[in-house]
Amino acid sequence: MVIMDKGRTCSRKKEQQDYTHLQELTDNIPYILMVLLGSLILLVGLDLKLVGIVLSVSYVIYGTLGAFWIIWFVCPYCNFYGTRSCPCGYGQFAVSFRSKQREEDFKGKFRKHIPVIVPLWIVPVIGGIVSLLFDLSVIVLVLMVLFILDSYIILPLVSKKYGCAHCPQKDTCPWMKVR
Ligand code: SF4
Repeated sequence: MVIMDKGRTCSRKKEQQDYTHLQELTDNIPYILMVLLGSLILLVGLDLKLVGIVLSVSYVIYGTLGAFWIIWFVCPYCNFYGTRSCPCGYGQFAVSFRSKQREEDFKGKFRKHIPVIVPLWIVPVIGGIVSLLFDLSVIVLVLMVLFILDSYIILPLVSKKYGCAHCPQKDTCPWMKVR
């Protein structure tokens, strides 16, 4: 699917390419790192107490389910569903769960479902700030810096410069928007 006005072409657009598994893995590393760092912030920030363990594990589950949420509710509407042209490999994965849906609905599905995963970027920051207000821990501070660096800078950069830079539907793809 090319979500562009008829007759318009992207000057930076390159031929659709197939990604290797190594490229797909590379594209997923910042997201995986974000989930791990976020869970560590919640765990260490709450002094490894039961509530911290519960929040930390819940965050990892949320991050995992969030990816599946996109795979289930968005990828079947994507042009790259079932192909090796999805930079993160979700498009191939989605085939195991749902059949191909109307590509015309992709934009609407994105708008509807993207808010579901946005809290992944926010929850650890709030948890870390609250923790630091009560106890200025160097470890939590370092984890916070790494989390912000990864999720707010590296992750969007990897998508924009590496995986999806020339994708014709980059303006509406969930990963491009939130990464
Ligand atoms: S490009 Fe985005 S929407 Fe399309 S299959 Fe990949 S992750 Fe899903």
